[in-house]
Amino acid sequence: MTLPPPHSRGWVLPSIIVVLTLIAGGLGGVWAALIVLALGFAGVTVFHLVHLYRLQRWAKSSLDHYEPLPEGIGGWGDVLAALSRREKKRVAFQTTQKQMIEQFRRMAEALPDGVIVLDERRHIEWANLRAQQWLAINLEKDRGQPLGNLVRIPEFLRFLADELNETLSVDEVAQRTLVIPSVFDTGKSIALQQVPFGRGGRLLLARDVTQYEAAARLRRDFIASVSHELKTPLTVIVGFLEMLQEAPTEMPEETREHYFDLMRTQANSMQRLVDDLLTLSALESGARAKEEEWFALTPLLQLLQQQTQALSQDKHIVTLTVPEEETQIYGVRDELASAFNNLLTNAVRYTPEGGKIELSWTINEEGRGIFAVRDTGIGIAAEHLPRLTERFYRVDRGRSRASGGTGLGLAIVKHVLLRHQGELNIDSRIGKGSIFSAILPAVRVKKA
Ligand code: ADP
Repeated sequence: MTLPPPHSRGWVLPSIIVVLTLIAGGLGGVWAALIVLALGFAGVTVFHLVHLYRLQRWAKSSLDHYEPLPEGIGGWGDVLAALSRREKKRVAFQTTQKQMIEQFRRMAEALPDGVIVLDERRHIEWANLRAQQWLAINLEKDRGQPLGNLVRIPEFLRFLADELNETLSVDEVAQRTLVIPSVFDTGKSIALQQVPFGRGGRLLLARDVTQYEAAARLRRDFIASVSHELKTPLTVIVGFLEMLQEAPTEMPEETREHYFDLMRTQANSMQRLVDDLLTLSALESGARAKEEEWFALTPLLQLLQQQTQALSQDKHIVTLTVPEEETQIYGVRDELASAFNNLLTNAVRYTPEGGKIELSWTINEEGRGIFAVRDTGIGIAAEHLPRLTERFYRVDRGRSRASGGTGLGLAIVKHVLLRHQGELNIDSRIGKGSIFSAILPAVRVKKA
């Protein structure tokens, strides 16, 4: 049995009982001493039982809210005070830990990325909301579940697998990236990366790379389209060159001339394509060959009308309507002229002989300037309208090529207008004709 230390108040009660017993023995004899001793022990027992009961009640209280320890008398007072100090320290430590965990959780939720904490068996310990959404995880239900059971994409299972990862260093593991389609958010592409931590734990980071993937796909498609567009005329030219080389003398002059004409047509179409590609790339690079300036619009429109009439070889009626008051436009004249010209060239190419092409310039109530080209041509079905400004998008590929189209005209128009904070509106009825309107913001338009 260990005795309480000498400074403890635990000595007080036994000492009082001993003193009282001795006094009773001295005054009343042995029986009196025994009675006092018995009463003393009974009192001590009750005293301890009461304290024990209060301590037990405290020990059973809920952990959810802080319950102060009961106070005690004598030795119990010392013990309970010491326990209370310990408890307060524990609670303070726990509160700090809780706050840190809560702060970590809030930080992880604020990240634009998804975060999943996995244990050494790749079971889910925690995941932020983004990761839950992208990988269709419900943390409440799935905590402790193997992640591989929830995301059943074969590459993903391989990516998670130990045998692959254990041969790799920590850095190598962190550098491996896997792109998978989001399980839940259809259309999203998610890039995943694993970061080893602690004893075999993994932090799985998920990033939304939909836009990056879309841009990469666009770039791949674009390169494929350009190669295809160049390949067709090149094949024709090479074919004719071979024929001319093989039978240069027997070939009648007329046939040879005809072949040269066909080759020239193909070479011209390649040249137009390369010119348009260079224009588009210059527009996209953001670099400007010329500064923006105020310029008079009517002379430009008159010039465009004449050029359109010449291009049409008088097969169409080309009219121009401008307000009496002269307008000044703020922008790059050559860029706007090339955009307007593309709309006019299209009107000529997609309007049968005898049709009408009307150019007009108006300023609406908000002060915005509208350059419109209305034709009575073949028109465009509604389902094509949203895609017309995509590079190489054509309603009828054969017709576009036959009339010298590159499929880049409207993409150029859109870029030029974007650089001028303008927009392109297309209204068209199949078989009736189209209206292409280039709209410029009011700040770029002033009446002279
Ligand atoms: P393209 O060089 O093929 O004309 P564009 O980018 O200028 O390329 O136009 C895209 C497509 O939009 C064309 O292939 C054509 O199908 C359609 N289009 C453009 N302008 C007109 C128009 N005025 N009338 C009918 N279709 C048009």
